[in-house]
Amino acid sequence: MISKVIAEEKIQQVRKLIEKNDKIVILTHLSPDGDAIGSTLGLFHFLNELDKQVSVIIPNDMPQFLKWMDGAKDIVVYEKYPEFAEELMADADLVFCLDFNARKRADCIEPALVKSKAKKVMVDHHPYPEDFCDVTISYPQICSTGELIFRLICRMGEFELINHACAEAIYVAMMTDTGAFTYNSESPEIYTIIAALINKGVKKDLVYQKIFHTNSADRMKLMGFALSEKLRIYPEYQTAVITLSKEELKRFNHQSGDTEGFVNMPLSISGIRCSVFFREDDQKIKISFRSKGSFAVNRIASDYFSGGGHTNAAGGEFYGTIKEAVALFEKVIPRYVATSVPQ
Ligand code: 5GP
Ligand code: MN
Repeated sequence: MISKVIAEEKIQQVRKLIEKNDKIVILTHLSPDGDAIGSTLGLFHFLNELDKQVSVIIPNDMPQFLKWMDGAKDIVVYEKYPEFAEELMADADLVFCLDFNARKRADCIEPALVKSKAKKVMVDHHPYPEDFCDVTISYPQICSTGELIFRLICRMGEFELINHACAEAIYVAMMTDTGAFTYNSESPEIYTIIAALINKGVKKDLVYQKIFHTNSADRMKLMGFALSEKLRIYPEYQTAVITLSKEELKRFNHQSGDTEGFVNMPLSISGIRCSVFFREDDQKIKISFRSKGSFAVNRIASDYFSGGGHTNAAGGEFYGTIKEAVALFEKVIPRYVATSVPQ
């Protein structure tokens, strides 16, 4: 048995909304990651078992390493098919918002989301959810939105309806949001859930390979370059920074998703508690933050880089040059080091 994390009242509200409504749209955040895609596909397969008319819409495309997933081909990418996505949004009578806590994170879908008259349900684990849904299921202590989807389905009494595709999607979500169970993964209930998913037929070693063993030679070389040429250590702040410019990315034939996970690498250096990765995109600098323990990188992201996220994994953006973005970071980092307790 796993403990009852989600409030009973919310479970009943969601159950009624699903019973009453047939045209359902599931949304997730910009640049969807494994938890975003895993949780949406998990819910998608469950709702299909209930014979609902269900669609998944994502703002922009998912990384290549998730495209093998069952149902991934049915996902509507708003950027590619804006009119079709708008039609689905206009028709929907129930919208699920998964793995994001603020309308802004839906990016190009935000206007349609705000305009929509559909009932809305948020299922998410980022702190400080915005109040824009009829039901808000937000539990930051839970490792992934995928785990919350599992808990929601089970608490509605529908464990039997979790088919192989649904179980696999939930597993992908849980595995990717914990770095293959290497952080945010101390809760024993995670493993009770995984055992249930394996019993549903999930081949966990195979899933790991499909997600993590998909490097191109170019990506490996870019990684080597980033570590040997572009890594800067700030010992006084227990911090590491990597930057990659557009020109450098081009040199290694950069494909979308290639730099995924780069930010995690410096955290394996002894004594490093904070790692930041600055990537030059077309219009802006995308910044990823990772940390250990009480070093709250979501505060730096929201205070200075128009972003947010979790205590130990956050993101943001900067309009200007990489040099300016790093200069701002260097200026403010001492304040955050001073407020975090070393571990
Ligand atoms: P990543 O570095 O993988 O892009 O993001 C890490 C975490 O930070 C994710 O859980 C994501 O939800 C959050 N995050 C990333 N970018 C942003 C952003 O621009 N705004 C907010 N609020 N959160 C972000
Ligand atoms: Mn997540």
